[in-house]
Amino acid sequence: MSWHIDSWKDRPHAQEIAYDDADSVQSVVSKLRQLPPLVTSWEVERLKQHIAEAQEGKRFLLQGGDCAETLADCQPGIITNKLKILLQMSLVLVHAAKKPVVRVGRLAGQYAKPRSKATEERDGLSLPSYFGDLVNRPEFTAEARRADPRAMLDAYGHSALTLNFVRSLSAGGFADLHHPEYWDLAFLSRADLPLALREEYIQTSHRLSEALRFMEALGETTVDELTRVEFFTSHEGLNLHYESAQTRRVPRREGHYLLTTHLPWIGERTREIDGAHVEFFRGIQNVVGVKLGPKVDPKDAIRLFSRLNPENEAGKLVAITRMGAAHVQQSLAPLVDAVRNAGIRVLWVCDPMHGNTKSTNSGLKTRSFDDILFEIEQSFAVHHDSGTFLGGVHFELTGDDVTECIGGGLTEEDLDKNYASVCDPRLNYRQALEMAFRVGQWMGK
Ligand code: PEP
Ligand code: MN
Repeated sequence: MSWHIDSWKDRPHAQEIAYDDADSVQSVVSKLRQLPPLVTSWEVERLKQHIAEAQEGKRFLLQGGDCAETLADCQPGIITNKLKILLQMSLVLVHAAKKPVVRVGRLAGQYAKPRSKATEERDGLSLPSYFGDLVNRPEFTAEARRADPRAMLDAYGHSALTLNFVRSLSAGGFADLHHPEYWDLAFLSRADLPLALREEYIQTSHRLSEALRFMEALGETTVDELTRVEFFTSHEGLNLHYESAQTRRVPRREGHYLLTTHLPWIGERTREIDGAHVEFFRGIQNVVGVKLGPKVDPKDAIRLFSRLNPENEAGKLVAITRMGAAHVQQSLAPLVDAVRNAGIRVLWVCDPMHGNTKSTNSGLKTRSFDDILFEIEQSFAVHHDSGTFLGGVHFELTGDDVTECIGGGLTEEDLDKNYASVCDPRLNYRQALEMAFRVGQWMGK
């Protein structure tokens, strides 16, 4: 079974995109092959090194961003806020864990969405579902929902614009990170936060402020190391036409690199061992994430990991479990035990979002802050009992003041106020920051 850049085309393809014009797909793919890469193999290898260290417990992974990024949200304020919340969360975690945090955004390319149904019905009309801005558009019209190959070029362009801005902010140190006065800690004064927690968090935030002031005071001599923030990108590698078009050999390195993002992941719906996605991702050098839900058979997970990483290379695999609060205890332990017994190297990361999605009576998708917390807490516990450890967390979040998840200051009645997600519900700025304090609390113990 030899791998080549198009070998995925001979495999069963879950979530296949129904393009109706093969010639346009081919001309877009040819164009994408010529355009510069969005990331470099150096960065990809550096991330792999970081993940290898995280697999040894020397680093912790924080991954987060929108469920579905949109082209319309490619705006400076929105991008800045997303970067800000991720960086602030990472500092809370660094402080708690006393180890470096690898920061990975779900951004600059998180434009393709798997769907549980290929079509959507409204008022007797049936149209293709919305598969993300990389594929079609969310408006419910036949024209908008047609899979348009040119959307790949738009998404590539917007990824480049986003990444360019993120790189500039990161290189310049990003003042919002280092100035505690730019942090919004309003959640600390919320009446429903238990007093003991509130006091603990206030102390943590004071210690954090002191540490940041100290770093500032060190000034110019160490400015480069301290102010340059390292930041990586990730997205679900769903659209294989797009991903394979930006996959190439680079001078003086072995193998192929996927250069649309540092860390692509394979979703829960596309991880069949003989399917197109696993075939494609087994052939690239990048770190690869795999989502694993509560129905996963540990034996299948082992086969999957061995297919994706036959040499058991360090830093190569990130296992992102998304069991749900109701299943995490029963489902996670057998998986973790089997993988540990097989001697397979993975970084265990908890995605506490995708197993905890519910609908309100009015049909809005939401998630409960308490379920999210519970799944993380239980994941720490299961790993502890299995003699392994949780090496990272994966959130759907935004830096803006949206109302999509319940708890952490919001009730079901608040959801209508600013429900902005085009796909799954995200933590807002305050909920995400509080989440970091809560996770930090467990890590510090
Ligand atoms: C996602 O991360 O948005 C997603 C669809 O996840 P999963 O594949 O775990 O359902
Ligand atoms: Mn999602």
